[in-house]
Amino acid sequence: MKPINFGAGPAALPEPVITGLRQSLTVFANTGFSLIELSHRSGHIQEMIADTTLRLRTLLNISDSYEVLWLPGGASLQFAMIPMNFLTRRAAYVNSGYWSQKAITEALRFGPVDIVASSEAHSFTAIPQNVHCNASHNYLHITSNNTIYGTQFNVYPEITDGFLVADMSSDICSRTIDINQFGIIYAGAQKNLGPAGVCLGIIRNDLVKEVKKDIPFMLNYQVHADKKSCYNTPPVYAIYGVNLLLQWLLEQGGIPVVEKNNRKKARKLYAEIDRNSCFYAVAEKADRSIMNVVFRCHDERLESSFLNLCVEHGLHALKGHRAVGGLRASLYNAIDVSAVERLVACMREFEALNQ
Ligand SMILES: *Cc1c(COP(=O)(O)O)cnc(C)c1O
Repeated sequence: MKPINFGAGPAALPEPVITGLRQSLTVFANTGFSLIELSHRSGHIQEMIADTTLRLRTLLNISDSYEVLWLPGGASLQFAMIPMNFLTRRAAYVNSGYWSQKAITEALRFGPVDIVASSEAHSFTAIPQNVHCNASHNYLHITSNNTIYGTQFNVYPEITDGFLVADMSSDICSRTIDINQFGIIYAGAQKNLGPAGVCLGIIRNDLVKEVKKDIPFMLNYQVHADKKSCYNTPPVYAIYGVNLLLQWLLEQGGIPVVEKNNRKKARKLYAEIDRNSCFYAVAEKADRSIMNVVFRCHDERLESSFLNLCVEHGLHALKGHRAVGGLRASLYNAIDVSAVERLVACMREFEALNQ
């Protein structure tokens, strides 16, 4: 049976994306050359990047008041670019765990940071509530989905001053969102968008014009926007992988269909965790992520034998993040319902073996 990658990232990609990438290495768009040999200034590549942007705009319903950027350095570089470009007074951050803490650590290099809500006292098993910002804050930063703890914002905080920034690395394109709630959204591609090597940035036009001017060109949103993500040589191969993934999402019926499927997968898996006498879910019920399902064995010593049984069934990368341990199943868009059914069957077999 086909092995399934339940890893949190780099993550599973749909078969047509892999096939398309393979074909592009033979010859791209009848040019006689492979994709990775073509100049990024050539019409073919410029068109491919523009087409990738257009597909994302269509899928997420992004208006002309936003720039769509294909940025270097992964989501981790955004942790630094955001304060570098925008932190002139104070910045507000929600601390929902590991990745938001990394974002906070970078921001502190550039100016004062207020942690306006935190779930640290609950070991990050919930989404922090009661977020309070004020007029001294340039922006509020949140992590939309906490990949490591399996928690996810269901409702985004409303702010009256400044703008909302969201790290959506692990739930971009998984559900319907209203882009207009945000000033900036960013997402490393390698979880739900395609191969590693590129980071998506969606940024409101008026903010692009406000960036601090005394920063390196490569770290300046305005430079990337003015040069249409081609200030330097962009990672063309990774962007093409995203292009193929977006095409696949559109063919599935777009975000509403994909979301319905994602919710169905998550429901099936949580239902089994809640039912099965060997396992429990770690996150608070109300804040459970539909992308990363984090769970444990009541008897933690059994976790490694469960992982072994999974591998025997072709179910891979279910070990939790090293920061928290336990078990984690990532149910990104490319994982289909049948893969979750295989995991559920394996959990039942494990329960029977341990009774
Ligand atoms: C994986 C992840 C990151 C780090 O992404 P890189 O592209 O490797 O820098 C940041 N934020 C979240 C929420 C993640 O899941």
